[in-house]
Amino acid sequence: MRKILIVGGGLSGLVAANLLTKCAEVVLVEKKQYPFHRVCGEYISNETVPFLQRHGLLPNLDALPVIKTLWITSVNGRKSELPLDLGGFGISRYAFDHFLFQRAVKNGAQVFENCEANTITLAGDRFLVETSEKIFEADVVIGSFGKRSRIDKAMNRSFMQKKSPYVGVKYHIRVAHPSDVIALHNFKDGYCGISNVEDGKSTLCYLTHRNNLKSYKQIEAMERNVVCRNPYLKEIFARAEFLYDKPETINEISFETKQAVENHVIMCGDAAGMITPLCGNGMALAIHSAKIAAELITDFAEGRKSRAQLEHDYTKRWNQLFATRLWAGKQIQKLFGNEWTSDLAVNLARYASPVATWLVKQTHGKPF
Ligand SMILES: Cc1cc2nc3c(=O)[nH]c(=O)nc-3n(C[C@H](O)[C@H](O)[C@H](O)COP(=O)(O)OP(=O)(O)OC[C@H]3O[C@@H](n4cnc5c(N)ncnc54)[C@H](O)[C@@H]3O)c2cc1C
Repeated sequence: MRKILIVGGGLSGLVAANLLTKCAEVVLVEKKQYPFHRVCGEYISNETVPFLQRHGLLPNLDALPVIKTLWITSVNGRKSELPLDLGGFGISRYAFDHFLFQRAVKNGAQVFENCEANTITLAGDRFLVETSEKIFEADVVIGSFGKRSRIDKAMNRSFMQKKSPYVGVKYHIRVAHPSDVIALHNFKDGYCGISNVEDGKSTLCYLTHRNNLKSYKQIEAMERNVVCRNPYLKEIFARAEFLYDKPETINEISFETKQAVENHVIMCGDAAGMITPLCGNGMALAIHSAKIAAELITDFAEGRKSRAQLEHDYTKRWNQLFATRLWAGKQIQKLFGNEWTSDLAVNLARYASPVATWLVKQTHGKPF
């Protein structure tokens, strides 16, 4: 049996692990320990639902908030509303990733938690992956280590050469928020998403330019002085019960172009390319890329494809399915975080809703 090593157990790594146990011996290494929180808005596009249902990877959807409406507010507090054609649902990554991890173990994957991969090398036709635990050998390695990892540096990936100015902050809160709505509130040099997840909680997650944080030194001061200038956010911050002692944060979020295959490693999810968070589509892309990787790796494991064909076909499929969506997301992000352009986004949704709906569609895929 072929051996597949998956580096990183977020959505893409866990989905790939669940699918590949049918054709190969699967080992997944994850540097953290489940369950854990992540910076993520936790709105998942419905395009993933048929696939997740087919594979038994959808936790009890009836109990989860169904999201059908988008609210946009501008920096100075103008608001518009747009129905979402496809819509989505809300679930915390704490719950979803834990569910997928348990499924993967049940399906026969070997999962090493608290295990960080440091280097990946191809020696002849076998990979050697050196981790904090031990050295693993494998026939195929999937890189599902997310938007930015130390291993990107070890692999000398080109996007690591550029500093990225974006910081992400996330909380779980309790606040009266309509369960069918995802709200995107603009503030100067950033935007904040709010939608509901399980157990009556809401996720509040924002992306900001690091200059906001530099100016005010501390997150709380930045929130008071910049984020809460948007009257909707001011009200939420005043009314909400915050459920973490401190927020989850990440920095250096990069939207640079990456390669789908690098040093013969098949990259999935954010490791292959990250869509801007306002699209609410990164998780769908992560799941979909894991699906196509698993299908092609199955062909390789069962002798129907060579390694060269696998790498060529995966790169081609990845570009066909996702490259334009990433580009569209970057263009739409330019409308956000600025007084004038965020007003334009609100006006588009209010007075030219077919155009706004068309823009949203450019970042979304079809149900798969
Ligand atoms: C602010 C913000 C808001 C977002 N909101 C949404 C949203 O509402 N909807 C949506 O669909 N998407 C959203 N996204 C995007 C979404 O979170 C990602 O696209 C998705 O999590 C990608 O999944 P992944 O499997 O590629 O990576 P991740 O889920 O990030 O998983 C990567 C895993 O790899 C592990 N890892 C890293 N390095 C190593 C190593 N060397 N060895 C072992 N393990 C390693 C990490 O610990 C992690 O568990 C948002 C992103 C941001 C930044």
